[in-house]
Amino acid sequence: MNLHTHKLLIQTKKICAQRQVRLTPQRIEVLKLISKQYQKAVSAYDLLHLSRTSSLPHAKPSTIYRALNFLLKQGFIHRIESTNKFMLCQNFLELSHNFIFFICNHCKQVTEQAIKEIEIILQHKAKLTGFNIHNNIIESHGLCLQCTNKLIFSHPLYK
Ligand SMILES: [Zn+2]
Ligand SMILES: [Zn+2]
Repeated sequence: MNLHTHKLLIQTKKICAQRQVRLTPQRIEVLKLISKQYQKAVSAYDLLHLSRTSSLPHAKPSTIYRALNFLLKQGFIHRIESTNKFMLCQNFLELSHNFIFFICNHCKQVTEQAIKEIEIILQHKAKLTGFNIHNNIIESHGLCLQCTNKLIFSHPLYK
């Protein structure tokens, strides 16, 4: 277990104790597997496969889904709606947060970025029509900086 995962688990256990919710071994295992895919989103199917080859050899799809639902509800992970994959929340110590996801189509890296300014605009637009926003899911697909540089410089024009 690396330091990042170790720290994450300590924090998660603390939060669960405070909220009086149960962090079962299955839930811990699924969280660990997701955290190992640092900045990458992973599908439920991949998680089932990964858990079967690690410490949950008898995991069933329902085991994974139950763990995912728990982790989502507690805000430890996010579901990327456009790809139906899951990723570790990069800011889960902040109680409520609205983020935009930047998803690289090439290397599949996903990052969370704060969207305070966009939130203000959306709330303003909603108010104009009397609409009440409960939550926003904003996912942007494109290329990350590394991939942009790699792809530009591998273009025949640059050779
Ligand atoms: Zn988050
Ligand atoms: Zn990329």
